[in-house]
Amino acid sequence: MNDESVHRPAIPNVTFWGGAGEVTGTMHLVAAGPRRVLLDCGLHMERGGDSRRRNREFPFDPKTLDAVVLSHAHIDHSGNLPNLVRQGYRGPIYCTAATRDLIDLMLMDSARIQAEEARFASLGRPPGDPAGVALYTAQDVHHTLELCVSVPYGKVMDITPDIQLQLVDAGHVLGSAMVSLTITAGNGMKRLTFTGDLGRPGMPLLRDPAPVPACDLLISECTYGGQRHEPIAKMAERLRVLIKQTIDRGGKVLIPAFSLGRTQTIVHCLQQLRLAHQLPEVPIFVDSPLAGDISLIFPKHPECMSPDGVRQLQGPVNFLQGPLLHYIKSVDESKSLNVRREPCIIVASSGMGEGGRIRHHLKHNIDDPRCTVILISYQPRETLGWRLLERRPTVRIMGSREQNKWADVVSLRGFSGHADHADLLHALSPFAGQPVKVCLVHGEYEPAQKLANDLAKHGLEDVSIPERGQTVSLV
Ligand SMILES: [Zn+2]
Repeated sequence: MNDESVHRPAIPNVTFWGGAGEVTGTMHLVAAGPRRVLLDCGLHMERGGDSRRRNREFPFDPKTLDAVVLSHAHIDHSGNLPNLVRQGYRGPIYCTAATRDLIDLMLMDSARIQAEEARFASLGRPPGDPAGVALYTAQDVHHTLELCVSVPYGKVMDITPDIQLQLVDAGHVLGSAMVSLTITAGNGMKRLTFTGDLGRPGMPLLRDPAPVPACDLLISECTYGGQRHEPIAKMAERLRVLIKQTIDRGGKVLIPAFSLGRTQTIVHCLQQLRLAHQLPEVPIFVDSPLAGDISLIFPKHPECMSPDGVRQLQGPVNFLQGPLLHYIKSVDESKSLNVRREPCIIVASSGMGEGGRIRHHLKHNIDDPRCTVILISYQPRETLGWRLLERRPTVRIMGSREQNKWADVVSLRGFSGHADHADLLHALSPFAGQPVKVCLVHGEYEPAQKLANDLAKHGLEDVSIPERGQTVSLV
């Protein structure tokens, strides 16, 4: 018996440190004997509460980790990695090559936002006050990228002497993966699958999610438990009608969209309408430098795209190019849209209107009854997007005076990149009747409970909704 097996508990386990009973800050710690593997290291993004402390302080020593596996590039899954590295983590970060290219852009942008927030927080405080220190810097992001190890979909890799990793396509955003770990423990072998964020079948550009890998413990997302998304084809038709009505009355169409995923999906959809001669001859402005840079990553990773998506990117009209499609970089160009009188379509971040250039466009157009704001993302309470949807005659944007809400505000939720209730049931139903523990994460309590109830009806007997800090063993 060697030293390692003396310290190795027979049963590996996982502790849910973020994204448990909530949708941001995903972070799950797998312990198998002396090994520690972290699944995702996301930024907790809810405003207020103890978000700030949770992002700053890890509930474990980052130096004790052997490996990190990253499911995909969204900030609520990747955004605290530079802080992990800042606090001493020096091991490998396993992810797909596309995810590595995407976090290069997204973490740099996040470091810029951290610096801005720290500068704002330091106002009126004494020099050196911890509140004025950024969570991490561009230098920390550089160090993080140096630790990334690219893993192709399907390849089996030893990441510690007793843990093997395989990534399979999750179909959620470019490069997104489900994580499959095979752990040799004691005399046996245990398998753990983490879905990350699970995509939907039939979405443009990406491939359908792969089957969920077989396992003893399944950590599944449940964001849209109990909810149904409309099919994407139906969304395109609703988009077409809304745009035509707006342009006919001389207004602008404003579409707040996240830079990774939703922007490319919506611009792809608009360009498909254009190819079918169903879109008025007005320009489309994508006013988000980050979204522009992210879009350029797609052609570098055909291995993560659907064959149709790859083919469409080779044509003259797609989400990257076309006669009336303009990606805007400079602030001056962005400002010039404010004085533009002619109808147009503006797609800009952020998806909830909480940051980015979309706020300026909303401020300039929200009281114009000819305009339409099309919300294509989930809008959490108290965000600007949520306040726009509220049945109130006025809205306050960026701390200014109350403005009349005379523009039409419409929510089109069918563009979501997440599996809905039926998709989740379909993905998880092959586990019915098997001795699999299912832990539902990345969802608030009500959607999680609705999905858990339905999974039980479908023959999955051991389904739980872990709380933050809870440990579940792989028996
Ligand atoms: Zn995601």
